[in-house]
Amino acid sequence: MSALDGAIEAGDLVWQQMYSPTDPEWASTLEERIEHGRFYGDRTQMRVVRIYRDGIDGPCRQVGKDGMHPLSGKPLPAHTEHYITCVPGSENDRDHYSSTDNNWCVLELATEDGALF
Ligand SMILES: [Zn+2]
Repeated sequence: MSALDGAIEAGDLVWQQMYSPTDPEWASTLEERIEHGRFYGDRTQMRVVRIYRDGIDGPCRQVGKDGMHPLSGKPLPAHTEHYITCVPGSENDRDHYSSTDNNWCVLELATEDGALF
């Protein structure tokens, strides 16, 4: 189960794995990044603070007035959702927030009871 199928909601405990946003190339799809297998950071347990769905919750907030990504100056790769997550227990501390999107980040539902151990 993952955010890919819409099963993740705010408040869920998840495993977050990011893939390189630049290798394969910037314009790649999430499926191509998973296939390429280049991780960006560790698989980390996080709490979902919010899922922002472009076109449903409002316009994409990651592009500038010119429609380009402000850091790269390029169009944003295809994505539909932005994930705001935090270190579990740090829900009120924005210093521990992470902001990603579903072009390069996969969330998987994690168990609440520590059953993995
Ligand atoms: Zn967006």
